[in-house]
Amino acid sequence: MTEQAQEPKADMDKLVSLCKRRGFIFQSSEIYGGLGGAWDYGPLGVELKSNVKRAWWKAMVQERDDMVGLDAAILMNPKVWVASGHVASFADPMVDCKKCQGRFRADEIEGDVCPTCGTKGQLTDARMFNLLLRTFVGPVEDEASIVYLRPETAQGIFVNFDNVLSVTRKKLPFGIAQIGKSFRNEVTPRHFIFRTREFEQMEIEYFVRPEEADHWYEYWLEERLNWYVNHGIRRENVRLRAHTPEELAHYATACADVEYQFPMGWLELEGIANRTDFDLQQHSRFSGKELSYFDEEKGEHVVPYVIEPSAGVDRPVLAFLADAYDEEVVRGEERVVLRLQPSLAPIKVAVLPLSRNEKLVPTARRVWEVLRPHWMSQYDDAQSIGRRYRRQDEIGTPYCVTVDFDTLEDEAVTIRERDSMEQVRVPVAGLVEALRDRLGGA
Ligand code: ATP
Repeated sequence: MTEQAQEPKADMDKLVSLCKRRGFIFQSSEIYGGLGGAWDYGPLGVELKSNVKRAWWKAMVQERDDMVGLDAAILMNPKVWVASGHVASFADPMVDCKKCQGRFRADEIEGDVCPTCGTKGQLTDARMFNLLLRTFVGPVEDEASIVYLRPETAQGIFVNFDNVLSVTRKKLPFGIAQIGKSFRNEVTPRHFIFRTREFEQMEIEYFVRPEEADHWYEYWLEERLNWYVNHGIRRENVRLRAHTPEELAHYATACADVEYQFPMGWLELEGIANRTDFDLQQHSRFSGKELSYFDEEKGEHVVPYVIEPSAGVDRPVLAFLADAYDEEVVRGEERVVLRLQPSLAPIKVAVLPLSRNEKLVPTARRVWEVLRPHWMSQYDDAQSIGRRYRRQDEIGTPYCVTVDFDTLEDEAVTIRERDSMEQVRVPVAGLVEALRDRLGGA
């Protein structure tokens, strides 16, 4: 039993090391020395990340009657980014160190000291640095063939507003949701997967009547904060922080961040903004195609306002990992346990024969075969049973199923629960049912 319950102790070094050791996240192109701001998700990471995306899609699209999905291309007509304002002004102020040639975001510098080499008084004045990543389409690499890797998924939604409206015949208010990769040439990628140059986003554009925008803005603040709590983040570790007037984009009338208390401090997971009708108006102007909604009751065209809850995927993944990470001492032995909700856990159940005995192994493999169609599962017969439980605890597997010598007699197995470590015996014939009861819909 737990001898000493302790407060969660995630720090970044421990998380990065666990992620690498267990196959959640690797440095991109590591054998070549890596690439700044890019990370690869390993066998467990890809499961966790896709579970986070699925949980978002389920709550934001599947379970609602006012939302539809979209999957737009990453490459778009470059005029999109002129209309959206990104070509002209998607930029951060940067300073360079004349001594070590380091480049930093001006808001991350304190005083006139270089954060890398420590030299004083050698920093340049701040200059604007555009974050758009560019490439070329077609065989000729000239100005006319430049396209951008999208810096957000949102614009794919705005430019498809009319397409989606005409095929779904949705009435206001309604939303369009999208999950996909985005790219930003971040100057200082850091904090592991928190700030990277290639990342994923889960974005909603929720279209409303202009006079109802304030109401829906408040609604989405609550809705999105609750989503994190409902999926296992402790309430005291998430908060809403309203932007100050100086932080607000010129077209937004209100904006707040959902912040998480990461090991390195309170930082943004998601931004929620009232973007007014700015984007639809801009695209109408630049494309010459009217983007509006026809209100049949009133017999008039309205350009809807939009509330945008814009989340990353990687930052929430890091938050779920950090919040789930726990260390405790059990019977004099320390264990690391990821207390992930079953719906997010990469592996739902592990099948472990008590030992690598020639009679137990085939029986355990048969049990595993029964479970595989239902859940992501693992089979493990290496090392002692205690160490195998620890390994599953460390990757957040909610249940282990142990096959022992009694199984050969009574056709029953032991289910061990990750957090309480309680064990119950169930017949193999009822195992799927018993796990389904425990895992719920996960
Ligand atoms: P920051 O101020 O931290 O650079 P931002 O305000 O520019 O973020 P948004 O443009 O609001 O971010 O993007 C919405 C969400 O996309 C963010 O809340 C974050 O979760 C995610 N995101 C943005 N930039 C990155 C990045 N470089 N790496 C990982 N996730 C990111």
